[in-house]
Amino acid sequence: MTEQDPKSPGDDLNKHLQEMLSKGNMQFMFNPGAQQQPKPSSENETDRVLAEALEKIREFNLKPREVRDYLDRFVIKQADAKKVLSVAICDHYNHVKRCIDDLDLFQKDYVKPNVILMGPTGVGKTYLMRCVAELIGVPFVKADATKFSETGYMGYDVEDIIRDLVKMADGDTELAQYGIIYIDEIDKIAMQDSMGSKDVSGRGVQVNLLKLMEETEVNLFSQTDIFGQMQAMMELQQGKTHERTINTRHMLFIVSGAFEKLSGVIERRIEASAIGFKHTLADGGKKNNEYIEQAEAQDFVQYGFEPEFIGRLPIRVPCESLEIEDLEQILVKSENSILEQYRNDFRGYNIEFDITEGAIVEVATEAYKEKTGARGLMTTLEQVFRDYKFELPSTSISSFEVTSKTITDPSKELKRLLKENCHAQQGILRREVDAYAHRFSKEHGLVLEFDEGAIQALVEMSLETDKTIRAICEDRFKDFQFGLKLLASKKGRKVFTVTQETVNDPDKELSRWVVENYPS
Ligand code: ADP
Repeated sequence: MTEQDPKSPGDDLNKHLQEMLSKGNMQFMFNPGAQQQPKPSSENETDRVLAEALEKIREFNLKPREVRDYLDRFVIKQADAKKVLSVAICDHYNHVKRCIDDLDLFQKDYVKPNVILMGPTGVGKTYLMRCVAELIGVPFVKADATKFSETGYMGYDVEDIIRDLVKMADGDTELAQYGIIYIDEIDKIAMQDSMGSKDVSGRGVQVNLLKLMEETEVNLFSQTDIFGQMQAMMELQQGKTHERTINTRHMLFIVSGAFEKLSGVIERRIEASAIGFKHTLADGGKKNNEYIEQAEAQDFVQYGFEPEFIGRLPIRVPCESLEIEDLEQILVKSENSILEQYRNDFRGYNIEFDITEGAIVEVATEAYKEKTGARGLMTTLEQVFRDYKFELPSTSISSFEVTSKTITDPSKELKRLLKENCHAQQGILRREVDAYAHRFSKEHGLVLEFDEGAIQALVEMSLETDKTIRAICEDRFKDFQFGLKLLASKKGRKVFTVTQETVNDPDKELSRWVVENYPS
């Protein structure tokens, strides 16, 4: 915080806590001589996982092609990005690995291959990095640059993202120091305003981020994290010496954004330098991506970035837009694709579905119209499957086919499916009546025998009102046990036949039973 910054709301409380601790006012909370308790097994398990993760970094021996091949399993297209990233990742983690054993190398200057990923939303920028982090086994965090404020007083401090990384590593600072930090919407903190002057707070955030990207010690407890500070002080008094800071030297920083207006900046630069050679640009039809591929540091500075900031991001990777065919490929080829997730969701209810090629094309075409890249697939599939997910688990349907008609008119196709299944559905509903009778007898020790008329009436009610048999029975017979228990205690009667009349007017029928059994 700078001198003129307002006082943080936690300052007074912090001071107070420190005073209390130093005077021993909180001694009752501590037991300094106490032996450390044996760790519960889940903690031992966490320790084992962390140790394995560290071992994996120490033994890092992947080649760029292997990283690329791994990414190919999950991420469709983005061939150039995959190549560049694979090389950067291998260089970085090879260096990290060697630094662990070689103090001389550790102390030498090192230009970290921090990366700028440029491209529209939903094309796999974050996904690429998540997959990389997964492959290497390092913690990964993502934040939006627009959330940061310069002082951290109004919002999220840039250092909070480092603390989040430590949380992702289960508090293990040794592992967290090799983690990957991903900051999205970086272009939003570089924008010039309409007057052409730079956004001051954006610049402040850039300066703070720059420190992190170079090397700095970050306090593990933020100024405003009173609980964390208390815990740290208590642990210190208990003689536990945990790390209080983390060094950012080996963390890899990835920033990304759409950089929509950057191509304009590059275009103007290229045109200015091409005066007199206009014929080379005569086609005038360069796509944004083609310009972005030619981005130079000066373009980013012109765009509103600090030169030092951009200098710390030497690897620039443009990502391509996804076309309809790419979205199709994501659905059918990418491991863990969103379609796979839907399959798993349905499998949770023992339901399988087949999807036709026509349906795949239809989903991709609909998703493309959203203009949100692969995110459009999620939106489209959610709309298609919304009612299917609600209805099918309560039916006897165990498989269905998704055709292009399902995508274009999901509710009509669902109705058709339910109608086709109507007969089998009756069987399910009948079994639900049995299940209710079983629960009633287990809970109250009384037997309800539903005759055919009662079952039919309940099945019809369920179909008409769109309610489950369970909900209907629990509503209709909610006070039955009291009257029936009375009859049971006086007359020893334990079995009661439920008829259509009982279903239609349960109170009247119950009164009748009572009157019949207690004649005046
Ligand atoms: P962004 O480019 O905005 O960072 P994301 O990487 O977060 O987009 O993409 C959102 C989701 O869409 C991912 O989690 C992934 O499921 C899917 N996705 C996006 N792009 C691709 C791609 N090229 N290949 C496979 N799946 C993708």
